[in-house]
Amino acid sequence: SPNANSSPDTHSSHAALSSSTAMPVEARHLVKRFGDLEVLRDVSLQVGEGSVTSIIGASGSGKSTLLRCLNLLERPVQGELTIADETIRFDRNRQGDIVGLDRRQLQRLRARVSMVFQQFNLWPHLTVLGNITEAPMRVQKLSRKRAIQRADHYLERVGMADKRDSYPAFLSGGQQQRVAIARALAMEPRVLLFDEPTSALDPERVSEVLSVIRSLADEGRTMVMVTHEMAFAQEVSDQVVFLDRGVVGMAGTPQDIFEGSHNERCRRFVSPAA
Ligand code: ADP
Ligand code: MG
Repeated sequence: SPNANSSPDTHSSHAALSSSTAMPVEARHLVKRFGDLEVLRDVSLQVGEGSVTSIIGASGSGKSTLLRCLNLLERPVQGELTIADETIRFDRNRQGDIVGLDRRQLQRLRARVSMVFQQFNLWPHLTVLGNITEAPMRVQKLSRKRAIQRADHYLERVGMADKRDSYPAFLSGGQQQRVAIARALAMEPRVLLFDEPTSALDPERVSEVLSVIRSLADEGRTMVMVTHEMAFAQEVSDQVVFLDRGVVGMAGTPQDIFEGSHNERCRRFVSPAA
């Protein structure tokens, strides 16, 4: 394997990747610290094929960090993560180094889990088309022609085909976010992650983005979404996870969470007035 060439023998007894569950994403006992601050404390999560999971919770509870761990933008210090049948074990003694996982494998795993950010994060110096074709060409080695075909397909999907040659600065927030969704889709990932995708938008632009996300849910895409849009979470989710100070305070169906949760802090979070 390519990994055998790039990793010293000392790592060979710590096989980082192995075949495991059929879940697109499964986190087991994840722990993440920033210095002394333990942001995730033993978080486990299962995301079924074709399901929508919403992560809710107070600001600072660790929602973004959890999402970033699922995409390997952050490296947990303990626990296990399964992404599309490959399992990675995190070892606190090897912090910052995912044992046996080289750059190419990391890129491959990340490509299976595409993220949409609150602030869109489009490259300002690239056109809409350039933003969408960049990663498929660089990471997945698609030809320019194939990458453009794909980009046009997903731009059509999010209703942005007519803006393919525009630069991000000339688009509204809602339009930029729809382009960011097309960019994530163009990697043809197993799982889409959304981190508060509508929080940076003007109120009148929220619904155009939610309706794209709703249509992706309807076509059976596997998605994990951090959101403050409670009505939307209730409507589209199969599973809702209430993250509370770095632990899963409560997880269940929207009904479990929104209609009289047994968890006192969850109940207060979803209906502060009650
Ligand atoms: P949420 O998305 O639920 O608001 P975050 O995951 O962004 O929460 O943050 C959880 C905690 O981790 C916060 O206290 C935050 O300040 C801290 N944190 C997040 N990222 C970093 C970082 N890169 N370095 C240090 N602390 C961080
Ligand atoms: Mg956040």
